[in-house]
Amino acid sequence: MDFKRAIVDLMPAPLVRTFASPYIAGKGIASGVAKADELHGHGLSSTIDLLGEEVFSREEVEATVQVYFRMIEALKDRPFATISLKPTQLGINESVAYCQDNLRRIAAGAAAHGLRITLDMEDSSFTDRTLQMFKAVRDEFDNFGIVLQSRLFRTGEDIRALHARPCRVRICIGIYKEPAELAFQDKPAMKDKLFEYVQLLLEHGHYPEIATHDEPLIRRCMAYLDQRGVDRDAYEFQMLLGVPRARLQQEIVGRGQTLRLYVPFAEEWKYAVHYLKRRLAANQAMAYMVVRNLFGK
Ligand SMILES: Cc1cc2nc3c(=O)[nH]c(=O)nc-3n(C[C@H](O)[C@H](O)[C@H](O)COP(=O)(O)OP(=O)(O)OC[C@H]3O[C@@H](n4cnc5c(N)ncnc54)[C@H](O)[C@@H]3O)c2cc1C
Repeated sequence: MDFKRAIVDLMPAPLVRTFASPYIAGKGIASGVAKADELHGHGLSSTIDLLGEEVFSREEVEATVQVYFRMIEALKDRPFATISLKPTQLGINESVAYCQDNLRRIAAGAAAHGLRITLDMEDSSFTDRTLQMFKAVRDEFDNFGIVLQSRLFRTGEDIRALHARPCRVRICIGIYKEPAELAFQDKPAMKDKLFEYVQLLLEHGHYPEIATHDEPLIRRCMAYLDQRGVDRDAYEFQMLLGVPRARLQQEIVGRGQTLRLYVPFAEEWKYAVHYLKRRLAANQAMAYMVVRNLFGK
């Protein structure tokens, strides 16, 4: 174990919680809903996500499905909010068929209330299975969206093979470290690809959700979208709750473009602490950014 990882592992939970607080709505569905309402008051949309550890037993998966049903109930009169979910919380570790069935149930519940959901993308060991489930559920439900990661070499092909029908696709660089055989290792290349994939998604009739905090990249996308006269209902920008981009966010909203924040909440604080420790350990740059945000530059 390297030194930085050991430090993160040793961090006391209250400290992790302090680090985490700008990034997490709080405990319970109500905290996510309250944050979505607050953001809506500032002209921002949101996508609400349940934080949790990887789930293995059927009992825990079913408990997670029930949380998503309660989220749907709580969000049903809030068209400005969508829901994000992860395959590892919904049974992919057991089987694709089981996970797909759970996704289908949640998509059906959300569709009945006019809500949209997005399937997050995890590390590359899940990409094939996640796309397979996405395509099957997307066949039935228009409200079902997916995430693709521009760091992976395969993503151009995945866009070309995505679906005949228009899809909502969050395009991001991807948070998971991937091996050099599968992915770009330098951020400028990942970001050039992200820009290229925004164009490719539009060409294929999809709805790109441009998820980045990189201001030059956002401006590059804006210039392209303006120049091509792309309708403002044909794409949106997305950022994570807590990343300090207030001025840019208000500028985007002021231009009449949609800006959606990713709003995680936890059912239990211990899950949030666990999750953030893993994230901090996996990505020390994030730990550095969190510290810098907290204590100034
Ligand atoms: C809405 C949304 C949903 C996402 N969903 C997924 C997903 O399903 N799968 C997946 O693999 N990845 C997901 N990601 C993460 C994404 O892939 C990137 O890892 C993350 O957005 C950082 O990349 P960046 O493009 O902002 O560029 P970076 O170069 O990493 O960041 C640009 C600048 O933004 C700031 N910044 C970025 N992240 C943070 C942070 N956490 N805290 C403080 N400052 C920060 C820093 O100032 C940094 O210099 C998502 C991101 C967003 C915004």
